[in-house]
Amino acid sequence: MTDLRLNEDASLDPKCWQSVRDEAHRMLDDILNHVQDCRKETVWQPLPEHVRNSFRSSVPLEPSPLAEVYQTFHESVRPYCAGNIHPGFMGWVQGGGSVVGLLAEMLAGGLNANLGGRDQAPLEVEKEVVEWMRQLFRFPDTSSGLFVTGSSIANFIAILVARNASLQKARKHGMLSSSKQLTAYTSQAAHRCIAQALDMAGIGSQWLRKIPVDEHQRVELGALENAIQADLEQGNLPFCIVGCAGTVDVGAIDNLTSLRKISDQYGLHFHIDGAFGALALLAPTIAPKLAGIELADSIAFDFHKWTQVPYDAGFILVRDRAKHIASFESPADYLSRDPRAMSAASPWPCDLGPDLSRGFRALKTWMTFKVYGTRQIGRVMEQNCRLAQYLADRIRADDSLELLAPVPLNIVCFRYRCANADRVNQDIVAAVQRSGSVAPSSTRINGVLAIRAAIFNHRTTTHDIDQLLDQVLCHANDLAASSQQSLGTHLDH
Ligand SMILES: *Cc1c(COP(=O)(O)O)cnc(C)c1O
Repeated sequence: MTDLRLNEDASLDPKCWQSVRDEAHRMLDDILNHVQDCRKETVWQPLPEHVRNSFRSSVPLEPSPLAEVYQTFHESVRPYCAGNIHPGFMGWVQGGGSVVGLLAEMLAGGLNANLGGRDQAPLEVEKEVVEWMRQLFRFPDTSSGLFVTGSSIANFIAILVARNASLQKARKHGMLSSSKQLTAYTSQAAHRCIAQALDMAGIGSQWLRKIPVDEHQRVELGALENAIQADLEQGNLPFCIVGCAGTVDVGAIDNLTSLRKISDQYGLHFHIDGAFGALALLAPTIAPKLAGIELADSIAFDFHKWTQVPYDAGFILVRDRAKHIASFESPADYLSRDPRAMSAASPWPCDLGPDLSRGFRALKTWMTFKVYGTRQIGRVMEQNCRLAQYLADRIRADDSLELLAPVPLNIVCFRYRCANADRVNQDIVAAVQRSGSVAPSSTRINGVLAIRAAIFNHRTTTHDIDQLLDQVLCHANDLAASSQQSLGTHLDH
């Protein structure tokens, strides 16, 4: 006879909880020290080869002590991040995180809640944040919102909602259900994820019309209308305008009220990519620049950027919940709802986006907003903008430097004036990043290579701005001289 006694010892819970507790407290202390002392470390340092190679082992079949694995994290992962928690980090548009966010991530990890749906308090937390966003953007109570990874996906969701509202058969029959070509419109300064969204939506990125911008990098309204009319004359089907509330290169904000009017005139969905800019509504001195944002049909934005919530926490807000649900609800027997039991509380987040299993991103956002209060978060944004103005002033006052774009918010694009400027400035950015004290990035403004300082970190001070200019100027002299020399040798031959 078979022995039915099972040997049930496969659980992953610790055999000795006390030793795990001791380890856990040490980890918490270490990571708090890491955040507390981040200014003392380098922003970024190149990964040593032996560290890179240490991540090349085979699948771990056998167990290892927690302390040993943690030690590897502590020595080989923790010191070699891209450095966005550091006050000297100014490369790209990234948030600095916070201690409250760190703790919330730990708590969410313990709950291991799956927020795809069902009747549970974590979803009430998410709904409360959705409601805060609805109020902040003055959307009607028939609107809907959803946490996603980031604005790339939030913008994609908005394009799908807009596409399906125009082409109701698209979900079932695909794009060939229309004889007309869908077309969308955005500024030349828009983020690459907008074209990618059209691509992923099966529309094709070439049907995103990239409209020229004015000297403030805002979309040209006349050119926009001309493009829409040209498409109509060609028999195309315009369906969406994507406005920018904070462009990634310079932080430009389109004329949102005018974009609403044009959208209405042609019956188009008006979406706004407000990845970092939209939440600047929390800062009373910046909010007026966002006039008209409350008129959008949908807004994509990130809590993980200017509001300092740890990665990842993006969000999509949609004015018309019915359209939002119509784009994603997909009946399945195993996801049926029963108002008397766990499967109550319909609609579920899985009816509003492509993810079924979802983590508890709402908790770190909810705790960040509650603990700091939105006034304090708004003050961080205002401080970042003041630092950007301080940097712009110092650049204007220095003849060897040139400001390359207006500074409407917290992003400053500039360069060192010299021969062979594109190459030299690219070299300056690399040298400054390798210095470890401060890290700008680069972009192109009107075809010209720019050093870009995007000031999003709540820890950044004038000291870091001074460091940036010191570093740029210190490397610039050497690099410009050696570039002249190599240019000279090149011409000699
Ligand atoms: C960061 C950013 C995005 C992309 O957002 P992710 O959260 O990185 O996916 C889109 N648009 C703008 C303007 C951004 O700054």
